[in-house]
Amino acid sequence: MGRILVALGGNALQRAGDHGTWAEQVAQMRLTARVLAGLVAEGEELIVTHGNGPQVGTLLRQNEIAERELPARPMDVLGAETQGQIGYLIEQELTAALVQAKAPRTVLSIVSRTVVSPRDKAFAHPSKPVGRYYTEAEARTLRKREGWQMEYDGARGGWRRVVPSPLPRRWIEGDALRKLLPRGWGAHIVPVVTGGGGVPVVERGRGMFEGVEAVIDKDRTAALVASALDADTLVILTDVPGAAVGYRKSWERWLGQVSASEIRSYLRRGEFGGGSMGPKVEAALSFLQAGGRRAIITDPPSLGRAIRNETGTRIVPD
Ligand code: ADP
Ligand code: MG
Repeated sequence: MGRILVALGGNALQRAGDHGTWAEQVAQMRLTARVLAGLVAEGEELIVTHGNGPQVGTLLRQNEIAERELPARPMDVLGAETQGQIGYLIEQELTAALVQAKAPRTVLSIVSRTVVSPRDKAFAHPSKPVGRYYTEAEARTLRKREGWQMEYDGARGGWRRVVPSPLPRRWIEGDALRKLLPRGWGAHIVPVVTGGGGVPVVERGRGMFEGVEAVIDKDRTAALVASALDADTLVILTDVPGAAVGYRKSWERWLGQVSASEIRSYLRRGEFGGGSMGPKVEAALSFLQAGGRRAIITDPPSLGRAIRNETGTRIVPD
């Protein structure tokens, strides 16, 4: 038995095609929570982190619609809001599922900040699309009025705001949490941390941090957290059962157990989507580099079997 960090993707909380109602998110999280509780009941220690793409999108839209009456909040604040709402949801559903599985734990969610470098080259090249699609006229106005960088998405035929996606350097609350957690904490506590990759902040002076308009890839931060809290397994839960080479091509092949150097060569060959599967594979590799034993990429229904090395993509050191 070991200590597992599970990173929940957007779809572990909200399925494609959902309207984004609270009831839908509760229902989806309930399913995921049952799977996670099963791991704990089998003796695993658990840490949870999560994405926030759809939820930030909703808050951005609420800002837009309400702007005549209520001042909009900046993106770092929206990130913190999503940690609150999703952290609460995970606390509610996972606590109940753990009791049901006869493995009760305190699920403890922590508002987390992640330090990024102001010199990160992502700030010069915003690349991560956020929020809804706009017409060309709207895009022009927003560029002028808000100073947003807008990018055309040919596949969907619309314009979207793009923001920088800098690399996570340090999870601020991690040091304190390490000191606070008692010996053997895994038998009592499930921490929920760095939602949405953590609120991105830059250090302006000692102890002085400033939130920035950016998003951090939650899988990249997950690798940092897994090392900081001594997890031996990093699990990235998403909406596909693993990573594939030749994805969606006639020669598609799903990867099972694969060594770090083998999957690194596929990564270099460009087999994994830049804003989606690519960062997951990079996170897996940096976790192993830092001493992790195993990284798994799979979907919630496959998780139990993937932990037993029966399915999913399992990346192991060379
Ligand atoms: P999450 O919200 O869980 O982080 P992402 O959308 O960021 O999910 O990443 C998962 C997606 O990555 C899959 O739905 C799939 O379409 C895409 N993807 C890109 N390349 C690959 C690949 N080589 N193998 C599997 N999935 C891939
Ligand atoms: Mg993602």
